[in-house]
Amino acid sequence: MGAMRILVIEDEERIADFIKRGLEGAGYLVDTAADGQSGLDRLHELDYDLLVLDLMLPDMDGLKVLEKVRNRKVSPPVLILSARSEVEDRVRGLEVGADDYLVKPFAFEELLARVKALLRRGQPVPERLVAGDLVVDCLRRKVTRAGRPIELAPKEFSILEYLVRNRGKPLTRTMIVEHVWDMEYDGLTNIVDVYIRHLRAKIDDPFEFKMIRTIRGTGYMLEADDGASGPGPASS
Ligand code: CA
Repeated sequence: MGAMRILVIEDEERIADFIKRGLEGAGYLVDTAADGQSGLDRLHELDYDLLVLDLMLPDMDGLKVLEKVRNRKVSPPVLILSARSEVEDRVRGLEVGADDYLVKPFAFEELLARVKALLRRGQPVPERLVAGDLVVDCLRRKVTRAGRPIELAPKEFSILEYLVRNRGKPLTRTMIVEHVWDMEYDGLTNIVDVYIRHLRAKIDDPFEFKMIRTIRGTGYMLEADDGASGPGPASS
């Protein structure tokens, strides 16, 4: 497998260099562009696996760049960087199609973790996941079951999303920790049990059909009662 290629559109030279050096150190090929137009030009020239995009650019709003990127037939995952921390920007960015969002200033490790997660995810994610009567809106990070809205904390949401994406497949605690926290929580995998307990209270307890199954000695698996994940007991 060749090295992944990342484009960084960022007008602040100091930050662009910091990101470029760090990502190159982590084994990625990195190009930088100092404004929106030259960034878009680079995107036309080469296939990138990921775009890191600053929102405040000298020639155009980063969200405008994002829109243009998303209008292309093939577009890479996009990680937005911004000094703005307002929730509206986050929502707006995610609506236009950013895959993730990082507020400046950030630690390089944090950026690297997001980059790795986005590259691993690869393709742009579908906006809505459906499993039985459970609907997960990945864009707005909202969940309903049988039409009833369910409030989840961010980590609970991430775990549920991961379970739904892998429905019918047993996931180990280690897999869940590495996916959701994007690091090795050695010896702390029981944190997963705690979050699963919270999730069950919200997702399963009020309903007859229990979607989150315990796989003894392994971890957890999500099942839906729409028959798509194989035969199983109608209720438990
Ligand atoms: Ca800027």
